Amino acid sequence: MDLLEYQGKQLFARHGIPVPSGKPASTVADAVAAADEIGYPCVVKAQVLIGGRGKAGGVKLAKDRAEAEQYATDILGMDIKGFTVHEVWIEAASDIASEYYASIVFDRAAKAPLVMFSTKGGMDIEAVAEETPEALVRIHVDPLLGFQDFHGRRLAFEAGVDADVVRPVGALLSKLYDAFVAEEAMLVEVNPLIVTGDRDVKALDAKVTLDGNSLYRHPDNAGLRNPSQEDEQEQMAHERGLTYVKLDGDIGILGNGAGLVMSTLDVVAQAGGSPANFLDAGGGSKADAIVSAVEVILSDTKVRAVLFNIFGGITRCDEVAKGLIEAFDVVKPTVPFVVRLDGTNDVAGRQLLADASLPNVHTEATMLGAAQKVVELAAAHGAAA
Ligand code: GDP
Ligand code: MN
Repeated sequence: MDLLEYQGKQLFARHGIPVPSGKPASTVADAVAAADEIGYPCVVKAQVLIGGRGKAGGVKLAKDRAEAEQYATDILGMDIKGFTVHEVWIEAASDIASEYYASIVFDRAAKAPLVMFSTKGGMDIEAVAEETPEALVRIHVDPLLGFQDFHGRRLAFEAGVDADVVRPVGALLSKLYDAFVAEEAMLVEVNPLIVTGDRDVKALDAKVTLDGNSLYRHPDNAGLRNPSQEDEQEQMAHERGLTYVKLDGDIGILGNGAGLVMSTLDVVAQAGGSPANFLDAGGGSKADAIVSAVEVILSDTKVRAVLFNIFGGITRCDEVAKGLIEAFDVVKPTVPFVVRLDGTNDVAGRQLLADASLPNVHTEATMLGAAQKVVELAAAHGAAA
């Protein structure tokens, strides 16, 4: 679960990480009131779950009330890379002397958290990693020993921070690690981590991803979900209890069981196609779950063809066929479907589909055959559309 910048900063503050003071606002009037309270100059920052807000015009420095009002008006409702701004964060302006970068992620291959730090902050860190990899200092932390003070000093020292801030930068990294562990985060990133003119060290930005599976242990964090920032299909699937992941291709995928769905993605890729999503209807899906899943898949306008790959174990193929027939009645799809039904009650399921003679539904006997067919149909449908 991703947090907005200000939610991340509030979480940081609870762990003693210095952050500028600020207030969230969702209307221009509230933003101006917050700016008056914080004082000028202040920064008006778009709160969306995507980076690069500065470049997109979503971060503005206001020197007085009129500017704060103007920027809040401009930024609220703005679209940043497909995310609508519903909230701004009004923050006391910082006087920036240096911009650094810090992050902590899991390195699964090393089975340990990886802490990264660079003095080349404030910019595109992927470009830094690509062009000057030596500028990004990395340390793996033994999860049982934890982050030690010398880790922080070494990161700061090796990256070449100014001598007077080696200790405060190290201390901030140590608290960042505490936050990462205590909140069960998957990622914490601070870009930029700044040194001010007064030589204070602060987190000026915050990107935090919490482990959604651990939220039951953190009831306060669970309340930080931002449904208005979630993808429309993901939100719809979440409400319907379906496992759904949006991808960026054009072929809708529905299978039963995560393993089967993952193999289906691979086979579609092997056939030269590009999946639009990962939808696992789960084991033992009944007809209504199938209808619900088809609605989610088709609500994504990028989908040009759909592949149903069902291997019936607990799931009965005749139930899936009934669900598909019902879905066609309710949703009336305009894109082609390819269906592979195998396993429990597959003969009955295929018979039901044959009897229903649904428009533009193709049955295939094998998974590879089905993948090749759907890729072909998506290409043809794309050309026609
Ligand atoms: P991002 O573009 O989404 O990563 O948003 P950031 O919060 O990182 O802000 C982008 C840039 O705006 C930062 O790298 C800073 O250069 C600048 N910025 C943000 N807040 C302040 C501030 O208080 N004072 C000054 N001078 N610049 C700021
Ligand atoms: Mn940033």
